[in-house]
Amino acid sequence: MEQFKSEISNKGERELENSIVDMTDEQFSSYINSLDDSASIEVKEGIKKVRKYNKKIIDELKDKYDNKCQICGEGSKNTYGVSVVEGHHIEEFSLTQNNSPQNIMILCPSHHRIIHKAKGMFNSKTKEITYSNGFIEKLLFNKHL
Ligand SMILES: [Zn+2]
Ligand SMILES: [Zn+2]
Repeated sequence: MEQFKSEISNKGERELENSIVDMTDEQFSSYINSLDDSASIEVKEGIKKVRKYNKKIIDELKDKYDNKCQICGEGSKNTYGVSVVEGHHIEEFSLTQNNSPQNIMILCPSHHRIIHKAKGMFNSKTKEITYSNGFIEKLLFNKHL
């Protein structure tokens, strides 16, 4: 049951990060309205506020990394003409709403799923990510962390 709960909350976090950036304004307002009543006004207002800044900062970081994953270097843009990389918040966005570039890394969708599911923790001193099974990985690209 605990595991199930954390699964849900991890999935929620990743989707929150992606969706608030990629939604259209209409989709975003219906998303805000769909939040259940337990989401306070402050939370809803907070999400609205950060969406604006988030999008700008993440777009700038995607440019900086040429739309490539900071872990594996995967980038679809040159081949397919579309970018699917995503912004990942090192400190959980839903908890801290920390949108500074120093709290965001650019990841391919696979690594974004993995880092949430395997609870990857980034060490800003060593520039390494440690996963829940003990595996340690260095960033391939790093220009801002
Ligand atoms: Zn990757
Ligand atoms: Zn994330």
